[in-house]
Amino acid sequence: MHAPDISQMHAGAHPVEPAHKRVTLLVPVYNEQQSIKPFLDEIQTLTSGTVKNIDWEILFVNDGSKDGTEFAIRSFMRNNRAIHLINLSRNFGKEAALCAGMEHATGDAIIPIDVDLQDEPDVIVQMIQKWRDGAEIVNARRGDRSQDTWLKRSTARAFYKVFNALADHPMPSDVGDFRLLDRQVVDVLRSMGERARLNKALFSWVGFKTDEVVYTRQERNTGRTTMSYWKLWNMALDGIFSSTTKPLRIWTYVGTGLAMAAFMYGLYYLISVLIYGTDVPGYASTLLLILAFGGVQLIAIGIVGEYVGRILTEVRDRPLYIVRSRYGLEAHAEIGAAE
Ligand code: UDP
Ligand code: MG
Repeated sequence: MHAPDISQMHAGAHPVEPAHKRVTLLVPVYNEQQSIKPFLDEIQTLTSGTVKNIDWEILFVNDGSKDGTEFAIRSFMRNNRAIHLINLSRNFGKEAALCAGMEHATGDAIIPIDVDLQDEPDVIVQMIQKWRDGAEIVNARRGDRSQDTWLKRSTARAFYKVFNALADHPMPSDVGDFRLLDRQVVDVLRSMGERARLNKALFSWVGFKTDEVVYTRQERNTGRTTMSYWKLWNMALDGIFSSTTKPLRIWTYVGTGLAMAAFMYGLYYLISVLIYGTDVPGYASTLLLILAFGGVQLIAIGIVGEYVGRILTEVRDRPLYIVRSRYGLEAHAEIGAAE
């Protein structure tokens, strides 16, 4: 609000006050009734004035929870006006929940954060400092992932390797959704209406001045993860297929290579028939070729299918999520996507 007063800086009378800003903590929740209270307790110190001149919005996106999550959140809303709630009409997945939150958030910056306290709220103070110093995106990099299982760590590492080898624009490994996004970045992300999306990939695709803080990923405090390996696998496919068309092009080369090999083999066979006459046995080699070519063709069709399916999803133009109800956002009711 106030421009820094240089005369005061010289006089040393008052330190320069940082400008007044609003920050949204964007919290997607799915069947997390036990996690709401510990989460609010943990961020209590942060939101009650640790960081100077920051107004907080705690925006829960209830992603179709079937337990008492909505009730738990609404019971805390009575005493805490910073809490806002959007209920989605069913479970749409974390990516869609994040999009719903970005559409409704009112902050000058948005920080997506998991409710299970795996994303350490303490580093938010450093994120805001870097934002005030001019960064438009502040990534929170997981310096220590020893809390994750070996399988999770190694599959994650493999995913980032494959993604960065194929994608048109790389994304940093070990940075999840937990990061600070300036309003300017959020508005760009809101204008990108893709359905098949991995937000992490888009966060780094948009560019902007980026800084990072390092933190240690904690263990989930209550409940259990709902991100099965099957869900993660599908997210990984969405991320890769929506960031690159290289897997389609690979088949041009594979096809060319195989056609050339087939031609050479045909030539060799023709010559050997001309010299030695016909040789009837050949069942094994015929079968082998049929199986190999059949397999390669099915893989190629499968990959094309992945893209065609995603084209259909985009063309159908269904909303990414559906909002059932909103609480605490009445003043901003005109904002919002499909309802
Ligand atoms: N989540 C969600 N919708 C889903 C699955 C998860 O909004 O369909 C939320 C969940 O409540 C949590 C965050 O996304 O706040 C991360 O989920 P989880 O801890 O299960 O994932 P992990 O940390 O194991 O990746
Ligand atoms: Mg978690």
